[in-house]
Amino acid sequence: MSRVSPGVVSGASYTALIKACHDGGYALPAINVVGTDSVNAVLEAAARNNSDVIIQVSNGGARFYAGEGLPDAHRARVLGAASMARHVHLLAKEYGIAVILHTDHADRKLIPWLDDLITMSEEEFRTTGKPLFTSHMLDLSTEPLDENLQTSASMLKRLAPLGMGLEIELGVTGGEEDGIGHDLEEGADNAHLYTQPEDVLKAWELLSPIGTVSVAASFGNVHGVYKPGNVQLRPEILKNSQDAVQKATQSGPKPLPLVFHGGSGSTLAEIDAAVSYGVFKMNLDTDIQFAFAHGVGSYVLEHPVAFQHQIDPDTDKPMKSLYDPRKWLRVGEKSIVERLDEAFAILGSKSRSIAQKS
Ligand SMILES: [Zn+2]
Repeated sequence: MSRVSPGVVSGASYTALIKACHDGGYALPAINVVGTDSVNAVLEAAARNNSDVIIQVSNGGARFYAGEGLPDAHRARVLGAASMARHVHLLAKEYGIAVILHTDHADRKLIPWLDDLITMSEEEFRTTGKPLFTSHMLDLSTEPLDENLQTSASMLKRLAPLGMGLEIELGVTGGEEDGIGHDLEEGADNAHLYTQPEDVLKAWELLSPIGTVSVAASFGNVHGVYKPGNVQLRPEILKNSQDAVQKATQSGPKPLPLVFHGGSGSTLAEIDAAVSYGVFKMNLDTDIQFAFAHGVGSYVLEHPVAFQHQIDPDTDKPMKSLYDPRKWLRVGEKSIVERLDEAFAILGSKSRSIAQKS
């Protein structure tokens, strides 16, 4: 196994990390962050579990990161994502683990967001030899396959010289995330939620010669947490896709880096199966949002007076030490860390960081 320097990976260190996941039979959680609190909680959790990790931001998360008060939403999305990336570049090395920096779903109307971020990565690459992000996701899964693949190919041509990768989506993930989503039809077979292995092979044959591509294949996975029953998870679709690529390309085991979207609420057996078929990245958004809210919410319920009065009306004591935002934001962070302790253990990445500590 090749070791990499701690910090944000790209190029050879990025592909080394994917290979380590495949060879070691484990996956990394990819956590959607919205601010420095969630970023730092993810880094803390990764460091204490000695696991590498994927930090990603959605377009809405990036806008929030820059500040909802900025009137130009496009500029805010670009600058928020860049600000998050720079925060991680500065700090990840200190935590001693390897980080994949990624942006989540972008559909066609969000291509200008990615274009501007890629331009920033090109500028960064010219001055430091490293891009700003490790990879981006382009989700054109609602469009005809050829249009999806042609646009993905032209974007990957810009990314590859920077050592960056592209995640694409084939078949659609049910549910909704940040306004990008697909309705689940009650009682229908929801066939559009299942990726066809021949489509994956077609994508692989076109894109893998250009650069590092990963595929979010749909196997009945759904964004968010819903009551079970509407769709059936079929991880064997991942296996069939992996097998189709392996057979056609005569390559070693697990040539295809697979991504598991909508993993919140999945069973252990479903996750194990998905990872064994070559999933190296499992997205975690909803569960992390809940962990943060649950931690902060519990704190507020425990100290309700401190959120209403600066001085306790019963005891005349100042409440500053309770309402100081660092107190309750920290409780939210710790709650994220604990949820991630679980994720690293379940995905098998605990104690397996490939970062070479000096
Ligand atoms: Zn997703």
